[in-house]
Amino acid sequence: MANFSDWQDRMLRAVWRQGENLPEEVLVWMSELYDEFGDMPESEFCELWTARTFCMARAAFEVIGRSAEEETGKEVTGEEFCYIDYSRDPEQGPVGVVRIKSVEVSTPDRAEVAGAVAEGLQEFIMSHYRVVWPVCGRHGHGLHVGYARESAVWKCEGGDGGGHVVRAIDPAPPQAPGQSPSRGSGSGR
Ligand SMILES: [Zn+2]
Repeated sequence: MANFSDWQDRMLRAVWRQGENLPEEVLVWMSELYDEFGDMPESEFCELWTARTFCMARAAFEVIGRSAEEETGKEVTGEEFCYIDYSRDPEQGPVGVVRIKSVEVSTPDRAEVAGAVAEGLQEFIMSHYRVVWPVCGRHGHGLHVGYARESAVWKCEGGDGGGHVVRAIDPAPPQAPGQSPSRGSGSGR
């Protein structure tokens, strides 16, 4: 596997993630890519990395957007809301930036993608409808994105003991490596 680890090092350097503690899921995805395509140029890997981020952001948007619509009765898709935006600026890095409102989705971690998308949706609902979403049913406070047990959650700062977790943001993240239904949809390849 010496070839694979060399390749992995080289690719992670290409996406500016060298030496980072990456989620297991990312490493599994990379080894699957290597098994399927073998050595590939850095530029091609950067494309795939971006496509993966984009896919995760869109999948998270569908789930979280649906719950926002159900809870607020407001539409979160439409022409006036370009909900997920992708841009590539060489100065910002080799893989481009996926954005939702002013929130940048720049992580390969699925939970953090869900958290970023949730913040973008929250910002959209506030700026577009002047509605606070989501709200704690017990305390009436607007909720904040947090992380617990490696998943993104909505947190309330009310109550004793410095707040509480209200619920998961993405209740059923697709986990099966290589079998993710979201992968491949709407990305170039
Ligand atoms: Zn609360």
